[in-house]
Formats: sequence, structure tokens, C-alpha cells
Amino acid sequence: MTPTLISAEPVLRDPNDGIAVLERTRTVAETFGIPLAVLAELTHRCPLQCPYCSNPVEMERANAELTTEEWTRVLTELAEIGVLQVHFSGGEPTARKDLVELVRHATQVGLYTNLITSAVLLTRDKLVDLADAGLCHVQISFQGSEPVLADRVGGFRNGHVKKLEVAQWVRELELPLTVNAVMHRQNIHQLRGMIDMAVELGADRIEVANVQYYGWALKNRAALMPTVEQLDEMTAVVDEAETRFKGIMEIDFVIPDYYATRPKKCMGGWGRQFFNITPSGKILPCHAAETITDLDFDSVRSNHSIAWIWQNSEAFNRYRGTGWMPEPCQSCEFKEQDYGGCRCQAFALTGNAANTDPACQLSPFHATIFKAAETEAAADQRRFIYRNFAGGTLEKDEPA
Ligand code: SF4
Ligand code: SF4
Repeated sequence: MTPTLISAEPVLRDPNDGIAVLERTRTVAETFGIPLAVLAELTHRCPLQCPYCSNPVEMERANAELTTEEWTRVLTELAEIGVLQVHFSGGEPTARKDLVELVRHATQVGLYTNLITSAVLLTRDKLVDLADAGLCHVQISFQGSEPVLADRVGGFRNGHVKKLEVAQWVRELELPLTVNAVMHRQNIHQLRGMIDMAVELGADRIEVANVQYYGWALKNRAALMPTVEQLDEMTAVVDEAETRFKGIMEIDFVIPDYYATRPKKCMGGWGRQFFNITPSGKILPCHAAETITDLDFDSVRSNHSIAWIWQNSEAFNRYRGTGWMPEPCQSCEFKEQDYGGCRCQAFALTGNAANTDPACQLSPFHATIFKAAETEAAADQRRFIYRNFAGGTLEKDEPA
């Protein structure tokens, strides 16, 4: 594989930040590396309408999506610069008619392929075609452990039963399976059932991920925010399941930021280990980065190579490393452990992406936000605003 040389174009330099200082004479891999895995959001179209969807509220329409030829060029370029894995995601990636072709091409250029899917559009024949094209792994999202709640959360009738069927096909075809369980106040009581369901389905791994509050989830925060008691309950369920299923199924657990004392190392640090490509080809440091409205993002449709964008684009360098940090982060001993937390959350909750993530107890905003979360959770507002291209639709009736 030929290493890509850094462009001779000017780069952002930050005297306080060794990571952002890029040496023009070195390759991408020799400076701070190209991410091993990239998220390819093939489309924002999806038959489900989850109220916590990580897609932006302003979604990209089908006519803006990259063509098959553009995606194959992108996949080739990713492999050439050293990316090893591609996660095909969305929206719902199976809504793209060319998915088999894209998986085949990714396989041919040497990429490990993962399909992140709601599963409801898959047929067994399509899954066989994907497996034949080299698909390596499937990740299916579940909204609950039983159909009534799960179908309500996803806003899609009979979706849960279909997901169970597809998960069985995945195992029959001997593809590794991850169950993705997105947790919030209205489905936490089904967590134990979801873990048991994942074991019964033969999943290798379950991701128990609490909703992260930006985009659609921020719109729906009052209907989704768990109580502190629920968080304790959830932690106990996960701890118990980890013991019970040790050696059988791996369990990853992401707690809700609002009740943390220190923030997560979001995306492994801004512009350090991850990028994703939107349906229209924009390259983002995080799938929620477009919620930061004063950032511009370069596109694979521009004259720049992907490696150039990763190294040099303003959006990646603005919050890369530690030089940009305000106090209290700047003089904090944890700054190279969590990189100040999540920029999107800082923007959503304080109006300034350069602020310390309010999930941190040292943030001046922390106490207010923690209190707001507690108050919202206690109010128990339950109707969802469903995700759609019209900007969202309020759930018709108060749920039973
Ligand atoms: S979170 Fe739900 S609505 Fe969003 S892409 Fe996934 S399945 Fe579709
Ligand atoms: S002050 Fe900043 S660096 Fe320190 S723990 Fe909080 S978010 Fe992390």
C-alpha cells in the first residue's frame, strides 16, 4: 500500500499542541495516523423514525447522495491510505440499491465490512448476496425486548419481529452479530430482556448504549432522559449480565453523559481516531458534528484527497489535540485522557463548542444541566417527536 504524502498546502499550526503540528515531510501514518475504521453513511433514508436517531435534524435527501461510482472511488481511496474497516451505516444502508456492489468493492480493495442496519428492509436473498459479496459482520439495532414498545419507539409496525427473523438469518449464514440496544427512560425496564434476547439470538456482542443528546435526541430529551434510579438499575443489570454471560457474549455499556462526573473521550478525541462520510460526501470528525453550526466541512466531491481533508481541514483542526482548550480543561490532569469530552454536547448545551463538555463536574454548566435532566426525567413527558424529513412529527396519542 503506497503511503500518502501530506500536501504542501499550508497547515494549521498550534504551538501548544504537538498533535496538531503536522510535518509536511512525513506521511499521514507517521504523523498521527489515519483512522483504522470509517463510518460510511450511505443514506439518511430509513423506514424507521427513532426519536433518538443520530442523523442530523436537517437530513440529506436522496438526490444529494453520492453515486455508486463516487462511493467506489471513496472506498478505494480509503483502502489506499490505510483504513482497514468500513462500517456501512445510514439512515438505513439497505435502502441503497447498490449496497451489494459497494460491499463487493470494499472487499476487493481489502476492507473489512460491517453493516449497521435496522434490518427491516432485508430479505434472506439479499443477506445471502451481501455475504457472498464479502460482508464480514452485521449489527442490528433493537428498540426493546418485546414488539409493542419496540415498534412504538421505532415508529414502524412489525419491525421487531422482522429484526428477530433477520438476526436468525445472520447466524444461519455464520456471520458475526452485534445487537445494538439504545437505552432511554421508556425502555430501560426491558434491558434484561434485551440482553437475554441477544444471547438467545447467538449474538457475539451487545452494545448497551444510552442515548446521546444532540440532534433528534435533544429534541426528544424530555421523553428519553432516564432518572438517576434507572441508571443505577441499568448498571446493576449490566453488571449481573456480565457475570452471567462471561465467555458467551461481550457487553459494552455506555452511560448517559448527563449523570457522569467526567465526560467520555468522545470519538477517541476530536480528529484523532475517527471520521465519517455523510451521504453527500462531507467528511466529519463525528457523526453529530454538523450540529455545530459554525463549522464547514470539506467533501469527497472537492478537489482535496481524503487524507488532505483529515490532516488539514479547518473542521478537523479546530478542536484537535489540547491547544484549543479553555480552562478548566487547559490546566487539568485529564486533558489528554478525555480531550475535554464532546464538542457537539458543549455546543448543544452551552452554545459554544469550545467550552468544556458540561458532562464534566468541573464545567460551570454542569450543575444546571444535571438538575435539568433530573427535572425532565421526573416530569415523565412521554410522547415522541418522530424523526422524518419533515422536521419531525409528534406522536399522535399519549402512550398507554
Ligand atoms: S436510529 Fe432509527 S431512524 Fe435513525 S437510522 Fe437508525 S433505525 Fe433509522
Ligand atoms: S476539566 Fe476538561 S479535561 Fe478535566 S476532566 Fe473536565 S472535561 Fe476533562
